[in-house]
Amino acid sequence: PAAPSPHLTARGVVRRFGGVIAVDGVDLSVPPARITALVGPNGAGKSTLFDCLSGTLRPDAGRVLLGGRDIAHLPDYRRARLGLARTFQQLAIFPGLTVAENVRIGAEGRPGGTLRGLVGLPDPARGQTALATDRALRLAGLAALRDHPVADLPTGTLRMVELARALAGAPRVLLLDEPAAGLDATEATRLAAVLRALSAEGMALLLVEHDVDLVAELADVVYVMAAGRVVARGPAAAVLADPEVGALWSRG
Ligand code: ADP
Ligand code: MG
Repeated sequence: PAAPSPHLTARGVVRRFGGVIAVDGVDLSVPPARITALVGPNGAGKSTLFDCLSGTLRPDAGRVLLGGRDIAHLPDYRRARLGLARTFQQLAIFPGLTVAENVRIGAEGRPGGTLRGLVGLPDPARGQTALATDRALRLAGLAALRDHPVADLPTGTLRMVELARALAGAPRVLLLDEPAAGLDATEATRLAAVLRALSAEGMALLLVEHDVDLVAELADVVYVMAAGRVVARGPAAAVLADPEVGALWSRG
């Protein structure tokens, strides 16, 4: 059984771009064994907050805590080694590689991974890397496609490859930026099943998602951002039924 997931917390996170305050003092909590969703109109600051949590951006002020440790100053690869993984809204797949090769890149970065295989060095952890890769391929339902070049796969499948690569890093906290973008109904259903299973195993999940139906179906807690601030939060059913939140959605 995996170790319990650490709690990911943002406290008073601020991030500016020039004169624009993209994130303006946000508190947010991503607990283990729960799916937390972050929604709001375009330009609300969701991706910027997400990047501050994952390590792609440093906050200008505030703290990002992982299991109580302040990680706000750590780059994303160091956060990954502490069990924090993310997927990208713009897919970051290597088109010249197979499905399994793309997923193995994530496995190399897992806690205990050496990264040696990536640069062609002899790797004492090679067997473990292969196991982590296989497990992630299975979880994402990609085992049959493992040796397929990714170049000619449809977007929906590439999203699952991206998810599998994140899972191969054995994360305990997983941040997903619009994972259902470009998925058809069948693929979205499979994604939802995978995320629910991960949550049931104790993983802490944060989902930035436009698809209201998916958020309503999956999320335990929803945060709503607008103009850099959290304007509503609570159990998904209550937040999504709030007419003021609905008005934000239709503008988003
Ligand atoms: P969302 O993901 O909710 O659509 P973003 O976090 O992308 O919102 O953007 C929040 C605000 O920050 C917007 O006003 C956006 O124009 C601005 N912004 C985001 N990224 C940058 C950047 N790299 N440079 C300048 N402004 C940015
Ligand atoms: Mg965004």
